[in-house]
Parts: sequence; C-alpha cells; structure tokens
Amino acid sequence: MSSTGSTGFVGIVLSGLRLRCPSCGVEPMGEGRRLKEACGRCGWRFFRLGDGDWLVTWLVAYTVAALVVIIAWPIIHFTTSLSLMAEMIVLVGLGAATVALLFPNCQGMSAAILYFLRVRWKE
Ligand SMILES: [Zn+2]
Repeated sequence: MSSTGSTGFVGIVLSGLRLRCPSCGVEPMGEGRRLKEACGRCGWRFFRLGDGDWLVTWLVAYTVAALVVIIAWPIIHFTTSLSLMAEMIVLVGLGAATVALLFPNCQGMSAAILYFLRVRWKE
C-alpha cells in the first residue's frame, strides 16, 4: 500500500471532504453519491462496517448539520419576522437537507478521520 497523500489531520480530512482517498489522496472515493468499498489505486478500505464506522459517519453528519443550524439561526432570527415555531421548522428542514445533501462528503470525512486514527496516529 503506497501512501502519498496529506500527512496532517486537516489535510487528510479535507481530502475526505473532497471525496479523495485519505491514503493516496488521488483516487476518488466514489462514483456519484455512492462510495466505493476500497481505493482502486492503493487498496485502502474506506469502511469497515463491523468496526462501527457508521457511528463516526453519523457523528460527522450531525456535527456538520448542527454547525449549519447554529450559523443559520441568528441569520434567520435577525433578518426575518418569522415566529419562533416557523424558525424551528425552517431550521429542522435546513438540518435535514444538510445531512441529505452532504452525506457522501460526511462519509468521506469520516473515512478520513478513521484513516488518520488507524494509520497516521501511530506514526
Ligand atoms: Zn488510495
């Protein structure tokens, strides 16, 4: 297995966000919204389902959605005259849409975080 990608945590997570293999930094992690099981160039397995990788993916997705909602709430609150209930409905929809739209990128970031913890953390 060759590894020529980024070595720092931020660089590895950014390559995951861009859906590039966290190990080699070159190969796309998927085709469209569907992620491949392993890298076609270096062979790194992106997800190990039995090891609880899905939990990291959901933690990343919820964190990204929470950040979007936290940033959007004051904007909606101070620039519109919506009621609190309407603001909550808009924010819940925004959070759900964020998870739906960015889920492949969240999977990529999660695979990159797990790659960093499994390989680079020990170096
Ligand atoms: Zn690779």
